[in-house]
Order: sequence, then structure tokens, then C-alpha cells
Amino acid sequence: MFDELHEECGVFGAYRIENASSITYYGLHSLQHRGQEASGMAVCDGKEIHVQKGKGLTVDVFRKDKLNQLEGDLAIGHVRYSTAGGQENENIQPIVSKGHLGSLAVAHNGQIVNEKELRLELENQGAIFQGTSDSEVLLHLIQKEKGTLLEKVIKTARRLEGAFSFLVLDEDSIYAVRDRHGLRPLSYAAFKDGYVISSETCAFEVMGIYDSTDLKPGEVVEFKKGLVKKYQYTQDITHHMCAMEYIYFARPDSVVEGINVHAFRKKTGAVLAKKDVGLEADIVIGVPDSSLSAAIGYAEASGIPLETGLYKNRYVGRTFIQPTQAMRDRGVRMKLSPVTSVVKGKSVVMIDDSIVRGTTSRRIVRLLKEAGAKAVHVRIASPVITHPCFYGVDTSTKEELIGAHMNKDEIEKYIEADSLQYMEVEELKQVAKEIGLCVACFNGDYCTPLYSYQKVLEK
Ligand code: SF4
Repeated sequence: MFDELHEECGVFGAYRIENASSITYYGLHSLQHRGQEASGMAVCDGKEIHVQKGKGLTVDVFRKDKLNQLEGDLAIGHVRYSTAGGQENENIQPIVSKGHLGSLAVAHNGQIVNEKELRLELENQGAIFQGTSDSEVLLHLIQKEKGTLLEKVIKTARRLEGAFSFLVLDEDSIYAVRDRHGLRPLSYAAFKDGYVISSETCAFEVMGIYDSTDLKPGEVVEFKKGLVKKYQYTQDITHHMCAMEYIYFARPDSVVEGINVHAFRKKTGAVLAKKDVGLEADIVIGVPDSSLSAAIGYAEASGIPLETGLYKNRYVGRTFIQPTQAMRDRGVRMKLSPVTSVVKGKSVVMIDDSIVRGTTSRRIVRLLKEAGAKAVHVRIASPVITHPCFYGVDTSTKEELIGAHMNKDEIEKYIEADSLQYMEVEELKQVAKEIGLCVACFNGDYCTPLYSYQKVLEK
């Protein structure tokens, strides 16, 4: 039971780039915010696929000596936060298979909602699984299909339902695939004599690449024989980019579907400010880090000065690792501290990106009041989360969501705020303009059938 949302994963690929492992290392490092539990890389030297992976951050898993062993100019990599499947070593990606027809590696971001049905079908046909992740199902399906690797990848993509942006590597090519609803981001860019592929464009920018292309929903991009070819594997597409990518997951320097994430968040702050005409407050503060852009937007639109009212200690382990409530309480205090001289005696507008269980919001409000804040007005740069996500985010039950059980006034009371305001779904859609959003966790309007996950909603 966590009080923060967690993205499941990030993927990175390097095609025809000398020392592909080094570039992939930097790429994964830039995507670390998408998963810190495990990191892995599969590199091909034209003959064989070599794999290194382990639990922990990219910098811990890949020491220089390990990277030097990964020779080749093709690579795919992965950073993981586990929701589908568990934390077992077998689930760390990329997942590799070595068969008589050659080797394959797969790295996947998202969640396949018909995974259980597909796994059962494959098991009935004799498939043996090493782990419990849906990415392994993906690999088995690709192997089972007939034809060229491109044909196998396309046939597999057509069988999957849910959120997926995945990369497939063999001895001489890489395939990048995006689900037909465009739920998770995936982009590629020319680099040196080859190409790089990434869940987020922030990984390109650290390499000095400022021009990239998004995969379209329902698209496969083939990197083979030095060429890039695009294939639309289905015409049955929709546009449902995860709204939470803009609100919380993606790095502010990333561009998702043509919109800079920082700029998006600033606009949500401005929307919140416009709803607050007449609110008397001395300062605006953001909960670091993902709410800082929205706080800037609120301050600019309201004219209330922006301040640093909370300091985040970046060297503390994530609160969810700690098992007991008492330890979690201590963890939050270690992680976030109020800047007493800033908040003392002030009426504070506190901007946060979302409320999951409400316990973290309540602790932060208490921290600010203990530091002498006169009033704390909480403003949330997203609508109320009322439904679980089955597309690669770790809110898998309704019970853990305060918004599924309490109305706004009850939540305001629970978190001990002097006032509370959220974005509305329609306001969020207006910020996104022509970009179609998934807003299922705010209104239960899922863009796919949910298969076995439907039972979770009916509980
Ligand atoms: S349900 Fe929410 S978190 Fe999940 S993909 Fe949709 S918007 Fe994102």
C-alpha cells in the first residue's frame, strides 16, 4: 500500500552505434525516474546477444568493467519498477531467449491486460515460463509466430491488449512497437551513424539530440540494414496518452506527443489559480519535484509569490520500501523538510500533483503547520483519482485510493487542509488540447477491455 504512484518501466535502444552499451547506459540513467528497482541491458555484436542485469540503479548494476564486456553496436535496455509480475530476478528485463532460430531480447514498458489469457494459452501449448512478468509472454508469442521477425512482431502486437511500448532485439535489427491506444510514450532519433530509441525524449537531450519522432499508436518501426521502416500494424487506433505521464511520471524536460512536460504542468497550475480568485495567501510552494512546474504556473497566474517551502532530501530511500507505518512516518520526515523561515506565520498554497491514499498529503500539511504555517490550502494538479490503473501504474485496487471512498470535503478534512481543490477532467483535457488523454483513473473510462482485471472493479 503505497502513497505515491509508480511508473512501471522505461526502455532505451541503440541501433548501429559504436559502443552501444555506453550510450544505453546514459539513456537508462536519464530514464531512472521511471524505475529504480532493477536495470538491464542486452547488447549484440552481430553474432551473439550478451546480457547484464540486476537489482538496483543503473549506476550500481553497470560498473565500468561490466559495460566493457558488453561489446556491440546494437543494444536495448530497461529500468524497472515492478507491478505486473513480482520483484524476482527472472522478471528483470531485457528478457532473452536463445533458440535454434537465433536469439531474441525484449524490453517492455506498460502492462498487457490480456496477459493471463495469453499465458494460459501458451502454457497449454507447452510453453514454460521462467518468471511471472507479462514481458515474457510477449517473448513467447513472438517466438511462436511464423514468418520473418517483422511479421512475428506484427502478429504479436495484434494479439496484445493494454499498454505497451516495447523493443525487440535480434542479431542484426531492433523493432520498436507502440500499442494501438498510444498509452505509453516511445520516440526515436537519428544519432551519429545510427538511431536511438527511448521511452522519453529527456534521454536524447543529454546526448545533444533535439529532434525526435514519436511512434504513432499501432506502429512498428524496424531498424534493419541501416534503414528505418515504419509499419502500421493496425488501423484500429485511438489516442489515449496516459495523463499521468504529463502530471507526474515524465521528466519536465521531456516532450511527450509534442508537448513539453514542464509547460503542461505550468498550465495545470494556472488553471488551479484561476479557480482561486479571492483566495488570500502569502506564498505558493510546490511539493518537490514533480509539482514545482505547476507551482510556478500557479504563482505566475495568481501573482502570489513563489517560495521554496519544502526541501527534498534526494539521498533517502523511497518511502515505500519501509514496512511499518511508524517507519513510513519517519521516512517522510527524512525525505521532506519544511523551510521553517519561509512558511512560519504564512498562509500557504501548497501545490501537489496527486493524492493517492492521502497519508502523505496529511503528513506534509502537518509538517507545514508544525513549522508555523498559519493556513495550508492544498491544490492538486490532477483530478481526483477514483479508479485503479491497469496500464502499468501500481494502483491496482480501489481500496488504496482515498478518492474512491471519500468526497472532496472528506478528503480535505482527512488531510487537515484549510481548503482543497482539484483539477476537473475537462480542464485537464483542455490543457492537453488536441492530444487525446487516458483519464481512466479519474473517471473509470478505460480504453480497452480489461479481461481478468474487470473483477477488481466489481469488488
Ligand atoms: S489509468 Fe491513469 S495512470 Fe493509468 S494509463 Fe490511464 S491516466 Fe495513466
